[in-house]
Amino acid sequence: MVKYHGKGVYGAIAIGSISVFLRQDVQVRRIKADDTSAELNRLEKAKEKATEQLQKIYEKALKEVGEANAQIFEIHMMMIEDDDYNEAITEMITGQNVNAEYAVAVTADNFADMFSSMDDSYMQARAADVHDISNRIIACMNDCETGDLSSAEKVIICADDLAPSETVSLDKDKVLAFVTSCGSSSSHTVILARNMNIPAIIGLGEEFLTQIKDGTTAIADGFTGTFIVDPDDVTLSEYKQRQQEEEEKKKLLQELKGRENITLDGKKIDIFANIGSANNIGAVLVNDAGGIGLFRSEFMYLENTDYPTEEEQFRIYKRVLESMAPKKVIIRTLDIGADKQADYFHLEHEENPALGLRAIRLCLSRPEIFRVQLRALYRASVYGRLGIMFPMITSTSELEEILALCNEVRNELKEANIEYSSSIELGIMIETPAAALISDRLAPMVDFFSVGTNDLTQYTLACDRQNPHVERFCDTHHEAILRLIEMSARNAHENGAWIGICGELAADTSLTESFLRMGIDELSVSPSLVLKVRDTVRKINLNG
Ligand code: PEP
Ligand code: MG
Repeated sequence: MVKYHGKGVYGAIAIGSISVFLRQDVQVRRIKADDTSAELNRLEKAKEKATEQLQKIYEKALKEVGEANAQIFEIHMMMIEDDDYNEAITEMITGQNVNAEYAVAVTADNFADMFSSMDDSYMQARAADVHDISNRIIACMNDCETGDLSSAEKVIICADDLAPSETVSLDKDKVLAFVTSCGSSSSHTVILARNMNIPAIIGLGEEFLTQIKDGTTAIADGFTGTFIVDPDDVTLSEYKQRQQEEEEKKKLLQELKGRENITLDGKKIDIFANIGSANNIGAVLVNDAGGIGLFRSEFMYLENTDYPTEEEQFRIYKRVLESMAPKKVIIRTLDIGADKQADYFHLEHEENPALGLRAIRLCLSRPEIFRVQLRALYRASVYGRLGIMFPMITSTSELEEILALCNEVRNELKEANIEYSSSIELGIMIETPAAALISDRLAPMVDFFSVGTNDLTQYTLACDRQNPHVERFCDTHHEAILRLIEMSARNAHENGAWIGICGELAADTSLTESFLRMGIDELSVSPSLVLKVRDTVRKINLNG
């Protein structure tokens, strides 16, 4: 029995035989090409074939993992047509008189090196994509298939890394788990695995692949990231038992899909999901969330190397709204600063960044950035049911400034004959003690509140949420926090606003009953926790 440790990226347990994923890699050699136009011709034909294959993979992904996740294959098709990439290959073939395979392989390495050396982790992940499309083109020139799974039984796929196209191409019914020696948790492969509900472990190290053999029994524990090869009988039966328990839990939760979030005595509550990217919509739908209670829009800024344009933002918001319609989507405006930094904002170093120029303070200090986001949000609003939420509010004057800006944006759009919805809800986060304490004054100005318990806890208890040394002083159930939430709920309702909770505490099922008693209208939690919270709500009796 040998144990390996990596990072579990989808919590579930798989037990079965190992299948080492082999690619039919073509050995690419440099060959002198006398007829370069014939090579260019081969390149064009291979690109056409690769695009046809990608179109099929895109369609399969669309069915299995949804539009947002399938989009990577559209990007691959675009990458095949990228001018810089094609120019580099063509110049190499004609300038150096080499075969097309060699030109594609060298160009892929150069582009991948360029992406890998970038600071931005999103761009670094593109290195795998450029290799993926290039290998496909080379395979097409040689009539080879890319990686295939021929085994008849369900197996645990072990690989160095899996390209997104390989992940989707695999027959889902034959895969028990993905286990890879490298890979990053933000890679598309991991996102796809999560959305396909397949246990996955990444980062087991290079050695592991050389030490395993096809057909050996193994256990993949996606909760802890432990991979056990050739387990002894005791370990095997322990894991079989745990697997059965997990399966039963999951089955019970699955039965809750389509059910109402209603207590035994008939009180209903909305359970929504939190997302950081349009790519998470698949998980939101699979877990049957009633809407999106928090879309942290700043991740879109963090993934970019420059300010996302109005058009780029519009497209993303439109996609999220369309995918979720007619369910509600609450998009939070930029909450950058403090722990979330992007170089291109050129934010000054601050002694106390959590108390610094973050979130709404930054947006109000740089209205030109804020206005772009507001315009994109208003324009996208016609594609679904939008709520716009403003973070880090501490005063009514900030809110007046924000509402005036929204008004200006609406007038601009009206003058330009650009449509926007007349039923957008505007709300604020209650995540500072100040906001909770003046919630009676804030509530009449908005449609809703959403309590950000992560920051509300940090600011109420004076405990830096980034500092592990103060964790033991940071009692998330502290009476002060619960009183502030209760006070905000009362003030919201007395002034015709609704109130939700979108911080981590929303998923703390030991507090669900208290939240219901306070009259909280909505809880927004990670997609994977929606059914667990629904389960808790359905067992509560407020008259009991
Ligand atoms: C919060 O503060 O509770 C919250 C939801 O916002 P974030 O965690 O993104 O700061
Ligand atoms: Mg917050």
